[in-house]
Amino acid sequence: MEVIDLSHTIHDKIQIYPGDPLPSIKRGLTHEKDYCHVDVLTLGSHTGTHIDAPFHFLEGGKKIDEIPVRKFVGNGVLVDVSGKSDRELIEPDDVEPYRTKINTGDFVIFKTGRDKFFGTSKYYLHPYMSAECARLLLNMGVILVGIDAMNIDPTYQKVTDLEAPVKDLPDENEYGYPVHDILLGNDILIVENLSNLDEISQIKGIYSFLPLKLKGSDGSPIRAVFMGT
Ligand SMILES: [Zn+2]
Repeated sequence: MEVIDLSHTIHDKIQIYPGDPLPSIKRGLTHEKDYCHVDVLTLGSHTGTHIDAPFHFLEGGKKIDEIPVRKFVGNGVLVDVSGKSDRELIEPDDVEPYRTKINTGDFVIFKTGRDKFFGTSKYYLHPYMSAECARLLLNMGVILVGIDAMNIDPTYQKVTDLEAPVKDLPDENEYGYPVHDILLGNDILIVENLSNLDEISQIKGIYSFLPLKLKGSDGSPIRAVFMGT
């Protein structure tokens, strides 16, 4: 079986969503002073490659430890949207060519190719999904949506150090996070900051997005993998 690692490495300087808590990995016990080595981790629940539970956006939504484990491992269809420009919308038309391959209960994974900009300001300029596309996935019975970008909605970060002009950001208060609202509002899980989707040569395969079983949490970093034949 072919197993492909789809996670970014977590470290103190990893790029995080603007405003999220800074992660740190510190030495707790060390070989020098103690009987073994143990690290102390401080992490936001959305550090690196991670999964969002409905509670992330909905006060009464399901928390990460309340979701059955079978929802995190399943058949996925890889949708290639790597031709999109900065901040371009992912639309229902992008899903259309894959429609017959997507079954009820499947995951749908969007490959933007933006993981190659991870750690740079250009990573904020990723394409993002339209509300219409989120509704289409909901109507198709998809149970998880993944993307190799910082956010499935826009990332509200002004980027000033680029040479080429980029499309303006929508107003955060006006535009909000419609895709998170639609998907999480219908118990559809979201995986963000995937990487290495380029290494997957099959349109269909098994994906595993297992979170830590954190009591009452809105999400968790994950070790995302693709399993193909
Ligand atoms: Zn999210």
